[in-house]
Amino acid sequence: MDHCQQENFSRICRNFKWKCTPQRLAVYECVFGNRHHPDVDSVWETVRKKLPTMTRESVYRILNEFAGHDLIWRLDHVSSARYDSNTHPHGHFICENCGNISDFALENDVSRFAGSVPGEIRHMEIRFTGVCEDCQNAARQ
Ligand SMILES: [Zn+2]
Ligand SMILES: [Zn+2]
Repeated sequence: MDHCQQENFSRICRNFKWKCTPQRLAVYECVFGNRHHPDVDSVWETVRKKLPTMTRESVYRILNEFAGHDLIWRLDHVSSARYDSNTHPHGHFICENCGNISDFALENDVSRFAGSVPGEIRHMEIRFTGVCEDCQNAARQ
């Protein structure tokens, strides 16, 4: 982990008055900057290499703690919840075949929805599903 990430993590802990535990740090390291939208099991698999005694429950708890403070997004309604370190407005394309989730750019301006949405917007996610290019190519062979 580089210095900047370490700094970032310490700042987050100060902000929310959290202890900088090795467990939180390990989950942070695994998730932040991770563009693969990992689920709890793949985060658990990664952190266990460093912290073999860490339970799935504590990984789950920390992920949801991060998501509860808008540090990451929790994407529900896919086969299992996935976590996203990119919290800027963007779209998701979810492959119905392999489950891969990829990001695509959206116009950054969500303000134009404000008048028509009956509440205060905190997150915007646009989701398309279909068959990804990899699966299309595999089917053609
Ligand atoms: Zn696919
Ligand atoms: Zn995303």
